[in-house]
Amino acid sequence: MDHKNKFMFMIGFRFVLALSLFLGSGCVTVYNPATQRNEMYFISEDSELAMGKKLADEVIKENKLIEDNTVVSALLQVAHEIARVCDRSNLTYHFYVIDNEEMNAFALPGGYIFVHKGLFDKVSRDELAFVLAHEIGHVSARHSVKRLQAAMGVNLLLNLAFGNNAQSMQQALGIVYNVVSKGYSRQDEYLADTLAVKYTHRAGFDPYAGVSLMEKLQKEGAQGHPFVFLNSHPKSSDRIANIQDKILQIR
Ligand SMILES: [Zn+2]
Repeated sequence: MDHKNKFMFMIGFRFVLALSLFLGSGCVTVYNPATQRNEMYFISEDSELAMGKKLADEVIKENKLIEDNTVVSALLQVAHEIARVCDRSNLTYHFYVIDNEEMNAFALPGGYIFVHKGLFDKVSRDELAFVLAHEIGHVSARHSVKRLQAAMGVNLLLNLAFGNNAQSMQQALGIVYNVVSKGYSRQDEYLADTLAVKYTHRAGFDPYAGVSLMEKLQKEGAQGHPFVFLNSHPKSSDRIANIQDKILQIR
């Protein structure tokens, strides 16, 4: 074996060794009831929770939160009803209202959900339930984790799996932040709406509020108040069609 081949062999050997250690320790395949599929996770629930917490701390530091008890308790009342019936009810969810007039809502990995006051003020109780159920749907389907896994290189995955590299964590957080702020894929958005129909119905809210919500936001958008919740790829008319279709299936 010449020097170069020996070098390549060592690299290959170390890679296989690391991968098998990693697969043995960190990789699990589980059935996800939200997507109704067997899915492989390299990122453990603990890592997901740690990432979510870290990003949530940043969001809380950089934004003013609403502390008014009437607002917060109105949100929590609806939110807990949805969290109780979702496909990942084992998580402890955290809900916050951000003092911002933009109409927006988003979820961080691990169950940290943020709703802007601008949105909160414009929606009915059932529409709020749909917004929260959509965001909880992203968490239940582990959309950010799957996007992160797809975007990460092997080295980053290995470092995260062994939990020994602050720089890797920072890199991973950057990827997750990008996903959350720019929106998920078309498919992910449809699934989150489908799950929102399921969860709102299960919790006793009216899933048709999803349709009135979309129409309301479309109107707001047309008046020059673009809404990130609608900014994501699928057209709202297509999302409405999907929501109506899924409502017919549960009845
Ligand atoms: Zn979404």
